[in-house]
Amino acid sequence: MFSPEPQRNSLQMFLARVPSTHASYPLLLSMKSNQLAGRHGEERVLSYLQEALHNQSAYVLHDFHMRIPNAYSIQIDFVIFTKSYILLLEVKNIKGHIRLQHAPPQLVRTLDGIVQAMDCPFTQMTRNVMHFKKLLGNQSVPVYTAIVWANRSAVIDPLMFEAPHPLLFVKQLPAFISNLPNEESANVSLRPLVRRIQSKATPFWQTNMCERYSVSPLDLLNGMQCMACYSMAKLFEKTWVCMNCKCRVNSMLPENICLLFHFMGENLSMQMLQQLIPSLRSRNLQDLIQSKRLQISGNRRNRSYHTVTPKQVKWMEINNK
Ligand SMILES: [Zn+2]
Repeated sequence: MFSPEPQRNSLQMFLARVPSTHASYPLLLSMKSNQLAGRHGEERVLSYLQEALHNQSAYVLHDFHMRIPNAYSIQIDFVIFTKSYILLLEVKNIKGHIRLQHAPPQLVRTLDGIVQAMDCPFTQMTRNVMHFKKLLGNQSVPVYTAIVWANRSAVIDPLMFEAPHPLLFVKQLPAFISNLPNEESANVSLRPLVRRIQSKATPFWQTNMCERYSVSPLDLLNGMQCMACYSMAKLFEKTWVCMNCKCRVNSMLPENICLLFHFMGENLSMQMLQQLIPSLRSRNLQDLIQSKRLQISGNRRNRSYHTVTPKQVKWMEINNK
C-alpha cells in the first residue's frame, strides 16, 4: 500500500498557534476533529482491506489527490488495483442519525438535536469516478465504487432511491470485495498502470492558512513549535523545550520555518518570518536555500523568501500490499 508523505497535519499545527480566545478558534477546532475522525475511519478501513486482499496481489493507493488548476480536483480515499478490477472507496466516519436524500442530493446528519447538511457522498463519488476514468484512459479492467461507513454508531435511514454506488458498513467490506468478479485480465500490466496513476497525483499543499481561516498573522502565537506533538515550546536560556512532550525543539528549526509558509503564504520577508520566530536570522535559512526548499529574491533591502512547492507526490510504501 502507498500513502503520500504526510502533509495533512498542517491544520493541527496551525491550530496550536491560534490563541483559544480567537474568533476563528471554535471553527478550526471542529475542522480538526472532523479531520481526525476522517483519518481514524480510514485506518479502520485499511485493516479490513488487508483482510480482504491478503490472498491476492493488489496495490492500494491511500488518499489519492489530483488537482488540475482552473479545472477540477479529485480526492479519493482508497484506490485498489487488482488484475480483475479497480475499486474506488470513499470513507465516511460520521456519527449520528444519517439521512441521504436524492433531490437535492444531500447528507443530513442529526446529532444531539442539531441538524446539519453535508455534501452528498454519492454525488462526490460520481464526480470522482468520472474524472478518474479519464485518467485511466483506455484499459480493460472494470472500475467499481463503494461508500464505506466507518462509524459504528451511525444510524443510517434506509435509502428512498436507488443508490448510484453501493453503501456499506466497514465490516461488510471483505464480503463485498470477495464478491467482485475475479477473472484476471491477461493483458493488464498492473505495476506500470499503478505507477502512471501515482505520477498524476498532486501534493496536498495548503498555503496561507491565515487567509483561508481568517486569522491575522499578528494574532498567532510566536516561538518554536514541537514537530512531534505540535505544541508550542518554551525557551529556557537557549533551549526550546516542548511544554507537552518535554523534548528539545531547537533541531526542528527547518521544519518550523517551512511551516510559516503554510501559515502565512508562499512569499515572506524576514520581518514576517520573525513575527512568528523572533530569534530567526537570515543565516538560519541557508540550509533550506542550499537544499532548494527555499528560494531567495530581491536585493538586501527588500529580500523575500519563497517556498519551492513540490510538483510530485512522494509516495511512501506502507507495507508490501
Ligand atoms: Zn512535543
